[in-house]
Amino acid sequence: MTNHLFSEIRNRMPDEGKTFLETAEGRRLTYGDVVSLSARFAQALIGLGVEPGDRVAVQVEKSPEALMLYLATVRAGGVFLPLNTAYTPAEIDYFVTDAEPKVLVCDPASREALSATASKVGASLQTMDAAGRGSLTDLAEAQDGAFEDVARADDDLAAILYTSGTTGRSKGAMLSHENLASNARTLVDYWKFTSDDVLLHALPIFHTHGLFVATNCLLMAGGSLLFLPKFDLDTVLKLLPRATTMMGVPTFYIRLLTSSAFTKDLVAHMRLFISGSAPLSAEVHREFSGRTGHAILERYGMTETNMNTSNPYDGERRPGTVGFPLPGVAVRIADPQTGREVARGEVGVIEVKGPNVFQGYWRMPEKTAEEFRVDRFFITGDMGQVSEDGYISIVGRAKDLIISGGFNVYPAEVEALIDEIEGVAESAVVGVPHPDFGEGVVAVVAPKAGVTLDPAAITGALADKLAKFKQPKKVHVLETLPRNTMGKIQKNVLRDQFKGDFA
Ligand code: ATP
Ligand code: MG
Repeated sequence: MTNHLFSEIRNRMPDEGKTFLETAEGRRLTYGDVVSLSARFAQALIGLGVEPGDRVAVQVEKSPEALMLYLATVRAGGVFLPLNTAYTPAEIDYFVTDAEPKVLVCDPASREALSATASKVGASLQTMDAAGRGSLTDLAEAQDGAFEDVARADDDLAAILYTSGTTGRSKGAMLSHENLASNARTLVDYWKFTSDDVLLHALPIFHTHGLFVATNCLLMAGGSLLFLPKFDLDTVLKLLPRATTMMGVPTFYIRLLTSSAFTKDLVAHMRLFISGSAPLSAEVHREFSGRTGHAILERYGMTETNMNTSNPYDGERRPGTVGFPLPGVAVRIADPQTGREVARGEVGVIEVKGPNVFQGYWRMPEKTAEEFRVDRFFITGDMGQVSEDGYISIVGRAKDLIISGGFNVYPAEVEALIDEIEGVAESAVVGVPHPDFGEGVVAVVAPKAGVTLDPAAITGALADKLAKFKQPKKVHVLETLPRNTMGKIQKNVLRDQFKGDFA
């Protein structure tokens, strides 16, 4: 038996002299370096006691070494468990206690704060800083590099990724070697990645988007990454001329559009811009096309499932939609209560099944059972609908659905209308407790730079566009909407902030 995921990456590798990754400072890692460096990290992990199935938990800044640590964990037969760099030591304590890793790798600055957590679960505590240096790197460099990949089957775990925690406490999604390999294979074909591609990589690598979608795709295509520690507008503008493709969250594209240096000429050579992780508004999609001539390709996925749907590579990339089911992925829209498929065009919960779908939530068998139908379709918790010609659109999350006076209000429908109003940058519509209606519809609106918005004008503009029960009973104007690191609007924060509106 081979190491299922890494053998596939290795079998597809280009010449060892080909560049896999280059940093903004011009540091370069070839495919040969990828193999030898990840082998040394794998040896170091095994030296620390990592056995097949053991977790390696990692909260470090983005660096080439951190990425090598992902591959090393997979090659050593372990389970890679990256953690959001924004989490505090108290939050990390929850994840580490839950995951019981054999090794915990952290930034040198949090070493002391995490030492009690590490010893509680018997994990070896190692460090790695933003430059990729630290105790684990030293240990890796002391290895001889003579390493044979640990055998792992297709259904063995390669990673546990915690969900973003947008709707509640994060859950650990268990992902197998084949979950990751199958999705990367599909995306390389669907998005036509080749070894000529250079992807501008400004996403974090603790999340499925930057770690699996971006990295695995380029590894499997034998392409290269322009690897940036974060999204910095000036650096991105400087490096775009050298890229062929870019993957980003909607906020990346919104920020590019704020710059007058972001012109059609600058990106005329680009092959593809991809967006996901949060809804890309149709307005931003159109503004981007107008400015650059490129239609952003929006796709839809989640930590638990990798990617599920995508707009087409050839053919219309329709604003406000997430396209079609990916090859090999079955998608259906069902009644949330009964699980029965709804008629085409009706709103229901999106359910998916395929080799991309995870193995269950780590140590949450009951939660796992609740989220699967008997025929193994996974209930995503996202509400969606399918157009006559098959384009899927997401109308919000089941948990964000507002029930006001017994009627369903889908926030996305209201938000789309608010976003069209002159001077509005973006909006979020939430439900908060209401004594008569159960929930009352509240809109929170952020203005475009330099604009002063009048809540009454917003209410007025919606009056003849929406049924009365969908109209916001209250409009708040905030300078910006609260977001997490993946650019997702934190509706839970807004619900909490305005819970007293009708009290
Ligand atoms: P949690 O599950 O902990 O509440 P989360 O669902 O935000 O957090 P992720 O797995 O990072 O955690 O995000 C997946 C979700 O992101 C999807 O379920 C969907 O709601 C949203 N999403 C991803 N891509 C898109 C997209 N293109 N358009 C709209 N929403 C998207
Ligand atoms: Mg989720």
